[in-house]
Amino acid sequence: MTDIPTIQHYIDGKAAAGTSTRTAPVYNPATGKVAKNVLLASTADLDAAVAVAQAAYPAWRDTSQARRQTIMYNFRELLNARKGDLADILTAEHGKVTSDALGEIIRGLEVVEFALGMPHLTKGEYSENVSTGVDVYSIRQSLGVVGIISPFNFPAMVPLWYFPIAIAAGNTVVLKPSEKDPSASNWLAELFTEAGLPNGVLNVVHGDKEAVDALLVNPDVQAISFVGSTPIARYIYETAAKNGKRVQSLGGAKNHMLVLPDADLELTADAAVNAGFGSAGERCMAISVIVAVEPVADELIAKIAERVKGLTVGDGTRGCDMGPLITQVHRDKVAGYIDIAQADGADVVIDGRDITVDGDADGFWLGPTLFDKVSVDSAVYLDEIFGPVLSIVRVASYQAGLDLINASQYGNGTAIFTNDGGAARRFQNEVQVGMVGINVPIPVPVAYHSFGGWKNSLFGDAKAYGPAGVNFYTREKAVTSRWPDPSHGGINLGFPQNN
Ligand code: NAD
Repeated sequence: MTDIPTIQHYIDGKAAAGTSTRTAPVYNPATGKVAKNVLLASTADLDAAVAVAQAAYPAWRDTSQARRQTIMYNFRELLNARKGDLADILTAEHGKVTSDALGEIIRGLEVVEFALGMPHLTKGEYSENVSTGVDVYSIRQSLGVVGIISPFNFPAMVPLWYFPIAIAAGNTVVLKPSEKDPSASNWLAELFTEAGLPNGVLNVVHGDKEAVDALLVNPDVQAISFVGSTPIARYIYETAAKNGKRVQSLGGAKNHMLVLPDADLELTADAAVNAGFGSAGERCMAISVIVAVEPVADELIAKIAERVKGLTVGDGTRGCDMGPLITQVHRDKVAGYIDIAQADGADVVIDGRDITVDGDADGFWLGPTLFDKVSVDSAVYLDEIFGPVLSIVRVASYQAGLDLINASQYGNGTAIFTNDGGAARRFQNEVQVGMVGINVPIPVPVAYHSFGGWKNSLFGDAKAYGPAGVNFYTREKAVTSRWPDPSHGGINLGFPQNN
């Protein structure tokens, strides 16, 4: 046990041990073995990191836009050049296959590229001569120290949704990544230091609820960005808001794919398999329910089943299609839904427990699982399962499918598959979901739009990245200015009017 490394915090440009000796195990999900331990910060450790970020803030805020852009550009170049190293870390701690790990890094890189435009994005507006000799202009300024709390399923991409924009806008950051796969955050912060970021601007503190709670109440933290499951997202939103902070808090999901009878079923089956089983279903934008408008279900299921037969499950470094789940506990919880589905009367078309794996027998394996005729009262339909489980619900009409989707407590992503432009346009207008795909199964917006769901998939009104991210990490100041001239208005206690 003694040779298992311990992952430390990264504070003020270097590794830091802090005062807490509590740790959590970090597994390699493909072997089932503890590969590392990670420190779990105390409140004092978290507060010390915030103090470092607070001390670094004035100089970073006043660093020129040109200098900040140069550092951001260096970071972009280093990240692009070394993304293979980061992908290896993701595969080793999360389990996702190498190609998928690279995919999440590339989506994160897009946000770094977007953040390079910060001088343009924050340049404000100017109105000349609003009153005689008076000008009004607005500027966007940074907030101060901001906190980011991220989930296990995108250990690189979700931190990259936030810290490049926060930092480019002049804020300093304390990032608390998931304790299940913490190494990616340290790697990114070290890389940013190498790119020229001053010490203390990006700090990584590892931990669990104790560290999160300390971040939520620290008076020097101005804003919180959270991504995770819905109950925690709600708690973060309420607690941070009560403590006077800005909050953007993204929660869980149950994403439906509505398939109309006129859809191209080859395209639809490909999309269903990719979006249902990619990353072992551990994506907040995974498709987990197919709502099949009859009579398409039988044919679609046959096409999906045929594709699933060709999928390989195994160690993500070996070129397989799908890796393991994040922990044994999570794997067992997901597998438990197969029993629930049977008990609730669904047809188990494919049972993910019956698989051959290209990997260690102790890995956290579960193969692609497909249920048909799932009841909408069953926990299989209602719960966010977050694994390689795809449910088919059969409905009689477009309207019945739409009503089902709109009745869900979640509203993260959804997709419609059809060749009818009118139906697609109607769906886009009527569906109560924040991100909609039309013949696109995982409609994650590009970095210059914003990401976020509706209902219990997002608390607060601020989406992630894009224009919403820039607004979130800056606040507007309006300046009304007059330079002395030879004319004087004299005393007037009335409310100022423009003339
Ligand atoms: P999680 O809610 O368990 O953990 C997220 C973060 O919260 C972690 O950093 C964790 O340490 C912290 N945390 C956990 N329990 C806490 C508690 N009691 N108090 C304070 N902090 C706590 O989520 P996860 O399992 O890491 O990630 C998967 C979930 O994230 C899924 O529900 C998924 O849908 C969601 N997710 C949503 C999006 C989105 O964009 N909406 C994106 C990715 C993941």
